[in-house]
Amino acid sequence: MVRRFTWTSCAVVTSLVAGCGPRATPSAPVEEQRSPVPADAAPMTPDLDAPAESSSVEASPPRQERLPWVNPARCALPCTYDPQARLVSVDNNGVLDPAGGHLVDQSIQEPLGALVRAAHTAGHKLRIESAFRSYDDQVRLYRQIKQVGRAARPGHSEHQLGTAIDFRLPTSASIAWLAQNAPDHGFVLSYPDGKQRITGYRPEPWHVRHVGPQLANELRTSGLTLEELFRARPALGESGSCEDCPQPASRRACGTIKAAGTCDGTVLHWCYDDALASVDCAAFNQRCGRTRSSDVFDCIDAR
Ligand SMILES: [Zn+2]
Repeated sequence: MVRRFTWTSCAVVTSLVAGCGPRATPSAPVEEQRSPVPADAAPMTPDLDAPAESSSVEASPPRQERLPWVNPARCALPCTYDPQARLVSVDNNGVLDPAGGHLVDQSIQEPLGALVRAAHTAGHKLRIESAFRSYDDQVRLYRQIKQVGRAARPGHSEHQLGTAIDFRLPTSASIAWLAQNAPDHGFVLSYPDGKQRITGYRPEPWHVRHVGPQLANELRTSGLTLEELFRARPALGESGSCEDCPQPASRRACGTIKAAGTCDGTVLHWCYDDALASVDCAAFNQRCGRTRSSDVFDCIDAR
């Protein structure tokens, strides 16, 4: 199903959320966005997870490293993981700039800059809206954001890894361009449309993560999300249990909510590997309901 992405303003604070995005207008899904986005623009943030030695766009060495694996039930390892010593400051185009305003893992700076340059060459004026966020940053954001499912719990956000980026995407065409071309530079969309029950998060076409060209191209070819790849090959990922997280908000048991889930109005709640996950289907112009082919609840077409 093809959807139009149109975005209205999003408070600056919302841009800091994993899953904070422009507000959906009728027929427009909403995702994570940290700052105001022009109408018909979808912010996208690539996640940069590739280690420094594999950051080159051209090089695609066999990956021996385990990638950080975070989702609603898995935290960074440790929960307050902070790659401060590896962070470099970049501007809105991914160019090194001490006053640039965004921090990214040094391993992804080059491919990030190359991705933005390629987009500009293709006529898409995307720019970086959000990059690294610390555990404490996410604590503040999680407390501030009231929309259900918009902000990742502290410790669960890919932004804490330093390898995830939210882009400001000015047009629907730029959204499509990013999805198609990000893998050329080692980036993948972490939260594509229609996979919220798999990823644990609502669609976020502006959010990308760097995993290296080899994995990124494998994911593009297969159509799988990184989460699905982790589940198929658990040895690829590394994550914590969240038991070491300072804030109780980082841990949330399912209570009476089952894996099949339930609807509270437009909000879908489900038990995601023993952690409570929630998304507001209305954020991307869907409703919460039982799927036709199974007994699970999901965000489904509003019609
Ligand atoms: Zn993001």
